[in-house]
Amino acid sequence: MSPKANAALLTTIYLVAGLAWIFMSDRALLELVDNSALLTTLQTFKGASYVLVTAIMLYILIYVALKRERRLSEDDSLTHLLNRHMLRQQLDSQLLVCRKNDKPLVLMLINIDDFKQINSNLSMHAGDEFLKSVADEMREQFKRQVILGRISGDEFAVVLPGAIWPEDVIPEAEQLQERIRHINIEELDELQMTACIGISMFPADGENSKELINSASLALEEAKAHGPGCIRSYKLKLQETATERARLLLDLKSAITNQHLSVVYQPQFGASTQRITGVEVLVRWHHEADGWIGPARFIPLAEQHGLICSITDFVMQTAIKELIDADLLYTDIHRVSFNVSAADFNSDKSEERFAKNLAALPGDWSVAQFELTETAALMNMPAIRKVLNSLTQRGVQVSLDDFGTGYSSLSTLRQLQMQELKIDQSFIADIASNPNDAQIVRTILAMAKALNLRVIAEGVETSSQANFLIKEGCQELQGYLYARPMNIDQLVNFLKNHTKTTTKQS
Ligand code: C2E
Ligand code: CA
Ligand code: CA
Repeated sequence: MSPKANAALLTTIYLVAGLAWIFMSDRALLELVDNSALLTTLQTFKGASYVLVTAIMLYILIYVALKRERRLSEDDSLTHLLNRHMLRQQLDSQLLVCRKNDKPLVLMLINIDDFKQINSNLSMHAGDEFLKSVADEMREQFKRQVILGRISGDEFAVVLPGAIWPEDVIPEAEQLQERIRHINIEELDELQMTACIGISMFPADGENSKELINSASLALEEAKAHGPGCIRSYKLKLQETATERARLLLDLKSAITNQHLSVVYQPQFGASTQRITGVEVLVRWHHEADGWIGPARFIPLAEQHGLICSITDFVMQTAIKELIDADLLYTDIHRVSFNVSAADFNSDKSEERFAKNLAALPGDWSVAQFELTETAALMNMPAIRKVLNSLTQRGVQVSLDDFGTGYSSLSTLRQLQMQELKIDQSFIADIASNPNDAQIVRTILAMAKALNLRVIAEGVETSSQANFLIKEGCQELQGYLYARPMNIDQLVNFLKNHTKTTTKQS
């Protein structure tokens, strides 16, 4: 109903009710009271209560109207982008235009990965400054007719009327991620923030603002579940995936409590000696109904929902115990590598937790190595540096996992005092056939040599890959060509046979 019609209706109701009340109540009083003095008092009282009731009604009406007006007009006071409410309103009006002109529309929801670490590790002020910078970057990038909003703490929205999927959208999304990565505010130091983006489209994914926001939120959840810096668009199937993920999360919680997780070990080898130099510990989950579920599927979920510390603790404690019980540690195996996540370093207790897990080692802590991905390192550099500094002083080694896939400058990463670079398997896969990949690997090797870092290549599957790596001076190799991940009993057997062959060979 229009404001005019609304006002007319309310006034008419008031007029009818008011006049009815005056006539009926006067009549009733005349019928009931015959003492004129009492009648006058009652009429005065009746008039006063009428004024009181209408005053209260007037107050409520004005209060509700003003409050609504204020909420509607308010932009987000921190970033001066549209707030959620206004964004929805403007999105709905744009949808009307698009529907009329038969044009598509795209909604992007942007969420800053692990934003809370800025507030908790740096300061609320740094958090605010960062959010303001994101808004500035958005304004800078989207100068043309788009709608920009901040719909909750660290969640932003961009509405692109008329945009064509995917050619107009993906480059914009990637450029925005790049801008966010390069935001450089004082307190942020060299910390690089990443963002996940969820995308929905009109008319395919929703008819109105509510449906489009829901679809984009699901796409965003899906992106977050795949790790930091991902982009996902909504597909009908995502509704199922979201339900499926909720189920998986519940099951994962119970798997952690009921110890349905286990660990496997993948041996690593000296390139020239072909002897075992260490093992990487990898977590496994045997799901009662679905069978084995790979860590690539559940580790991002665990990171997102605060379960990673329990998993890391389990993996470290189990591997150390199994390796000691099998009498392998410090005898056949001199290095055991644990994968750790950025979220492992978020709490004040991180250092204490790691130290407690490592305290189970009967000897020197230098047998333990933490594998940290380049992206994780950059996500949480100040906290990670603090925790790792104290652990490395006690001998713990650090390896930079998936090296080459991030956007880091090595000078930033050097703050971590690592001993090893682990070249990502994506570069190894085509090393023998793709000159670009071969050149990247050569460059990494040269750089590592200059910095006195050990290099290990992961995902080595063929002898031509191994030969290339050995020729170029890579010190260690890991991959299916040599050994697949195996449980502790298989590792014991593998070591027995392996020692026999290497002794025979030498
Ligand atoms: P990652 O750290 O890069 O681990 C290497 C992955 O590559 C492992 O997969 C391993 O089984 C696989 N792999 C090893 N050699 C080859 C090969 O020659 N060819 C191919 N195609 N693959 C090979 P997995 O066990 O599925 O682990 C996947 C990822 O999950 C790991 O990648 C790591 O990021 C994460 N992850 C595994 N265990 C843990 C854990 O205990 N904690 C944390 N935070 N993350 C873990
Ligand atoms: Ca690893
Ligand atoms: Ca890796």
